[in-house]
Amino acid sequence: MATSKYIFVTGGVTSSLGKGIISASLAKLLQERGYRVTIQKLDPYINIDPGTLNPYEHGECFVTDDGAETDLDLGHYERFLNIRTSQDNNVTTGRIYQTVINKERKGEYLGKTVQVIPHITDEIKRRIKILGEDDKYDIIITEIGGTVGDIESLPYIESVRQLNWELGDENVAIIHLTLVPYLAAAGELKTKPTQHSVKFLMESGVQPDILVCRTDRHLSDEIRKKIALFTNVKKGNVIESIDAETIYDVPILMEKEQLDKAVLEKLHLPEKQKPELKQWKDFLHKFKNPKDTVKIALVGKYVELHDAYKSIHEALIHGATQNQLKVEIDWVHSEKLSDKEIIERINKADGVIIAPGFGTRGTPGKITAIKHARENKIPLFGICFGMQLAAIEFARNVLRLKEADSTELNPDTPEPVISLLEDQKLDLLGGTMRLGAQECKLDPDSHIQKIYGKETISERHRHRYEFNNKYIDLFENNGMKIAAKDLKTNLVEVLEYQDHPWFIVTQFHPEYKSTVLNPHPLFTDFIKTAYELKQKK
Ligand code: GLN
Repeated sequence: MATSKYIFVTGGVTSSLGKGIISASLAKLLQERGYRVTIQKLDPYINIDPGTLNPYEHGECFVTDDGAETDLDLGHYERFLNIRTSQDNNVTTGRIYQTVINKERKGEYLGKTVQVIPHITDEIKRRIKILGEDDKYDIIITEIGGTVGDIESLPYIESVRQLNWELGDENVAIIHLTLVPYLAAAGELKTKPTQHSVKFLMESGVQPDILVCRTDRHLSDEIRKKIALFTNVKKGNVIESIDAETIYDVPILMEKEQLDKAVLEKLHLPEKQKPELKQWKDFLHKFKNPKDTVKIALVGKYVELHDAYKSIHEALIHGATQNQLKVEIDWVHSEKLSDKEIIERINKADGVIIAPGFGTRGTPGKITAIKHARENKIPLFGICFGMQLAAIEFARNVLRLKEADSTELNPDTPEPVISLLEDQKLDLLGGTMRLGAQECKLDPDSHIQKIYGKETISERHRHRYEFNNKYIDLFENNGMKIAAKDLKTNLVEVLEYQDHPWFIVTQFHPEYKSTVLNPHPLFTDFIKTAYELKQKK
């Protein structure tokens, strides 16, 4: 007997309709009503996880506390719900097949022919139900990536059909997100794409209970009636999702449309209390009524696609909103711009962020940005690769170790200030990644300790190379403080340039932990200082 209830969110007509935001918004409303909710994303691609994907493909790779490299939607889930997700919250087709094939090799299928149905669908269903074990959640929302009708989504849709049957109608709600486009030439909203995509779902044996219709203008009663008639969905369950000014408006819009009520009714669950969204609304109020703006230059090589730096972007919004400021981001391309152009752009900013990254492309531009911000006392915040490049810049320009480098960028450098650890070098693939949350001890006299207000913190990692401890004394004696070290391994976590108002570079990724209700202190403080210095200019 199911104790948890399951909601499935599918998408039709086109991709990029914002399933992740709709799922996160619904989860937020249910959470506010007093339900324990989590969200899972099933991705139909064959990669085992998005760790190896170029950010241009699917945006940033989000990392969980337990070290899973996941889809960026998990970042939305965490930021909206203020909960932690895990390995179990993101599953790809690659992972499903890998599990099934490994089992087959071990002989666990006892000579049976291994097939999409039932073996692949059984594994999909098992992955969905894992979150319902241990009675940790009342409601599990599973977002199915891709668009209904894609060949690769078929096993997922079939698994939804089977689970609906097995768990019972009152334990499952199926939401289908579609597009209702406005055709300027006809002067009206068109429902046909929605009709077709629901028909496709029905052909697969899945009848949606609720339709969430993305649209750029209000759906009239007439339109809702028409959609209901063609799709077997109650008119009250045809929900409008109008284009919003910000993603943070969506929970409020969904509450007005009573998406949460429709879901609870379908799941035979009591409404409990009305979603207050008090803190959320406070955040939104501050976000929409900033007292001023602060300009941050974000230096990276994937800046054309803002999603490649999603968590940093969101953490900057949280930090700025906390200061009642609007953050204006200048996306500075570290590869395509000349040094002169980079410096010009940075001079116009109140603070600079050096983004994470891999490989040599765009590194000279990042080093130029670091040098300029360091020498001109412009607030500088470096993350992961940003920290490593700040170490290299300091070694080259202050310590005069002209050939200082990371062995990732120059394996033969005579001054490997950033390198692999000895035991990592044994690994044939060039070292495994340090992934997930680890504890780190902050120096009691450091700037970062004052910002966090505590001595031990836990932050997430995603990198292979480390600061080379051989250089610690040289750095410290010349004005670059080792402000934090890993609690267990003593690896360097944070560097702070002393002769500077705000120069903090971290080996870990603080951006992954910033949420609407818990803005990250480093981002909040960085913005605060950048703004204070702007006013003194
Ligand atoms: N490329 C660097 C490393 O592997 C930094 C990675 C990152 O910025 N996430 O250590």
